[in-house]
Amino acid sequence: MQKDCIYLDNNATTKVDPASVEAMMPYITDYYGNPSSMHSFGGQVSKAVKEAREKVAALLGANESEIIFTSGGTEGDNAAIRAALQAQPKKRHIITTQVEHPAVLNVCKQLQHQGYEVTYLSVDKRGQLDLHELEAALTGNTALVTIMYANNETGVVFPIEEIGKLVKEYGAIFHVDAVQAVGKIPMNMKDSTIDILTMSGHKIHAPKGIGAMYVRRGVRFRPLLIGGGQERGRRAGTPNVPAIVALGKAAELELLHLEEATARERKLRDRLEKTILELIPECEVNGGGTQRLPNTTNIGFKYIEGEAILLLLNQEKICASSGSACSSGSLEPSHVLRAMGLPYTILHGSIRFSLCRYTTEAEIDKVIEVLPSIVKRLREMSPFKNDDASWLQEQEQVLAHN
Ligand code: PLP
Repeated sequence: MQKDCIYLDNNATTKVDPASVEAMMPYITDYYGNPSSMHSFGGQVSKAVKEAREKVAALLGANESEIIFTSGGTEGDNAAIRAALQAQPKKRHIITTQVEHPAVLNVCKQLQHQGYEVTYLSVDKRGQLDLHELEAALTGNTALVTIMYANNETGVVFPIEEIGKLVKEYGAIFHVDAVQAVGKIPMNMKDSTIDILTMSGHKIHAPKGIGAMYVRRGVRFRPLLIGGGQERGRRAGTPNVPAIVALGKAAELELLHLEEATARERKLRDRLEKTILELIPECEVNGGGTQRLPNTTNIGFKYIEGEAILLLLNQEKICASSGSACSSGSLEPSHVLRAMGLPYTILHGSIRFSLCRYTTEAEIDKVIEVLPSIVKRLREMSPFKNDDASWLQEQEQVLAHN
């Protein structure tokens, strides 16, 4: 197993913080009681769950009673969308964006088949939304607006509170997939227009398979998982106590480090980006020129395949990604970059580096050292290195028709 790698794929998943592992271990080995039990052995466990809930609430600037533990971002997104629609059965319109994660997009597609009308808002070349398009789409029939806080592929951040203000004017429920934003952008649900927010543990140094939702007090919520009365009747099933405790610890650490860690990550990311642009010709930052997460850079290298760059980076023990972890494996270009209307050669030649608080100067230096020669080598082998205009034009046409 490879452990000594330079891990720059933190939007896919993160290393579990050792303090989180330490916090959860006693709840696997010794304190295995059911938090719903009446006896004090279960009571101890229930106290640990309550403390974890308080820590997650603190990270989101929410009240403890507004937090529901889930199995992660996908469940949260599914539950939020279904809950919002069930709360307003007469309204049949949903608004989302073309660049959401599949956990939102594929639910919306299914709902479309079930008779809902869905508006997929477009993005511009920077990956940013046009709020006039949102305003024009909103009607009294809109049940739900579900829009991500920050994009997992480009790191582009949407103006969530401006969006929320418009949504409120039409009385729709506002769900925000904040899986990539929590821990990177300060959150204060007390002053927010967000009704329901989704977060995931494994993006903030907690284990996989745990997450949380914030549901603002007063928002009608029908559970996705039906069974026992856990989570105040909002998510049935015996809670995953060790993972919840780990998430609580991770949330506490994220809040503690947020300001200093994000400033550091931004500095490292900016240096990486600036140096790559200086050293490597014909490359550009996807999503540059608008607000972005501090830890993410997505760069398109013309005339070569992103997957080939990743393979050669992998030989140098550097982990990055092309597209999202969910869609990589297929050679289909990313739906996010496509929605941005980027040219063929950028669509196919883009890679993402995503940093975290463990990323070091030396790791960034190593990428800067090896990447220019990797790109040069691949371009020398590239069939369209000489900017074969007619071939590229053909590909653009194919793309336009798909
Ligand atoms: N939403 C976004 C924006 C994501 O980036 C991800 C995961 O990559 C998810 C939802 C799904 O979260 P999970 O992996 O916890 O199910």
